[in-house]
Amino acid sequence: MTSREIRQAFLDFFKSKGHQIVPSAPVVVKNDPTLMFTNAGMNQFKDLFLGEAPIKFPRVADTQRCLRVSGKHNDLEEVGIDTYHHTLFEMLGNWSFGDYFKKEAIAWAWELLTEVYKLDKDRLYVTIFEGDASEGLDRDMEAFDFWKQWIAEDRILLGNKKDNFWEMGETGPCGPCSEIHFDMRSADERAQVAGQSLVNADHPQVIEIWNLVFMQFNRLKDGSLQSLPAKHVDTGMGFERLVRCIQGKTSNYDTDVFTPTIGFIADKSGIKYGLDEKTDIAMRVVSDHIRAVSFAIADGQLPSNNKAGYVIRRILRRAVRYAYTFLGFKTPFIHELVPVLAAQFSGVFDELIQQQDFVQKVILEEEVSFLRTLSTGVQRFENYVEDNSVINGDFAFELYDTYGFPIDLTELLAREKGLSVDMEGFKQALQVQKDRSRAATAIDTGDWILVNEDEGFEFVGYDTLTAKTEIVKYRKV
Ligand code: ATP
Ligand code: MG
Ligand code: MG
Ligand code: MG
Repeated sequence: MTSREIRQAFLDFFKSKGHQIVPSAPVVVKNDPTLMFTNAGMNQFKDLFLGEAPIKFPRVADTQRCLRVSGKHNDLEEVGIDTYHHTLFEMLGNWSFGDYFKKEAIAWAWELLTEVYKLDKDRLYVTIFEGDASEGLDRDMEAFDFWKQWIAEDRILLGNKKDNFWEMGETGPCGPCSEIHFDMRSADERAQVAGQSLVNADHPQVIEIWNLVFMQFNRLKDGSLQSLPAKHVDTGMGFERLVRCIQGKTSNYDTDVFTPTIGFIADKSGIKYGLDEKTDIAMRVVSDHIRAVSFAIADGQLPSNNKAGYVIRRILRRAVRYAYTFLGFKTPFIHELVPVLAAQFSGVFDELIQQQDFVQKVILEEEVSFLRTLSTGVQRFENYVEDNSVINGDFAFELYDTYGFPIDLTELLAREKGLSVDMEGFKQALQVQKDRSRAATAIDTGDWILVNEDEGFEFVGYDTLTAKTEIVKYRKV
């Protein structure tokens, strides 16, 4: 099956089980102070779970684009190094709002994976919550009993509170979850460790694909748990990981989700993928990061110098530096990947194809501006590390301030040399600059300003005047 077919089969399957298929929410979250980017399928349904919005459809399914680059879920450092954590990924999900519960959620997950996708049953594991005596929480025997109908008992593993008990926050709906893992190890390797139980943390070829959360409690302010009158199901399955399992690959980047971009990068750089770990990582990083940056921009978050905008700028600069150092791209290149992505996502997330020119232009401008200082910065760095074994705060700040190196990029460069960065020193230097600039002039603007986003302005859309000129609109907030 192609990735397109796999995605569609998920939606069709849940549609046939009475689910309403809904669109993905934007990846950029503008009206929730607790969240910068959508990081899970359930985000857009938060108010339903909290009982603060009416339930239109008791059963819903979708594919949600998610970004895990900040806050509680930050996978950025794994990306490209491992082969299954992305910055932006699609989370396939099905929900029950006070409708079906564990029995159906488990039976359907199993049916979809083994009958529609025909995944090898002997490669599937599931986990259930082991319980927590200190909270008076029982082992989730209900889930265990439902799983037992489908899968051998020795493939049902116990999981602890960290992995198998989901909470929305300090208070609110929560409950045990069951995760589904897929084992891609070779037959030989599996025979050697037969009988040993494991989940993904133990082996890079045994990966978590789907998390089924059963919301059955409400955590109150005093920390106690109350049984919910209406119980909910919230599931999330990593689309790129699912495709990898179905297509029998050992890396998400070998599936048709990534081969178009990896192929494009390989072509343009003249470097083959799969020959050298360093250039492979760089290709994976670039083909991952372009997705995050493109959708962030299409969803209204431009790269900028603060907050969410800076998160996006950092990701893009990270990609530019990987392309520059390891793939030999000394001139802007990354923006050329936008049309490849836009075509791939047509009919899925049309936001990208609709704004392709704009997204491309923003990325190109970013590339041009960063490449202006990158080579000098990298040279400065190389000279510095010849004589120093720690990157001191002032130097890290110089790289940041003069050459536009986000601090995590400096940390990455340092890590590649086996060095560390004096973060405290960097923060102090940054603080001194902040204090200085706070005293500086306030910018006088009307209701609308052009292009450069600044703190206190909210992106509300853009107009295309001609093919070459866009006006980016911001409203003062
Ligand atoms: P992991 O333990 O692998 O980091 P998780 O437990 O943090 O995953 P969940 O919050 O349970 O992930 O999200 C549901 C599903 O989304 C996961 O089972 C996985 O398939 C997928 N997923 C999570 N994070 C990523 C990511 N960074 N890139 C791709 N897929 C992801
Ligand atoms: Mg995680
Ligand atoms: Mg996990
Ligand atoms: Mg999980």
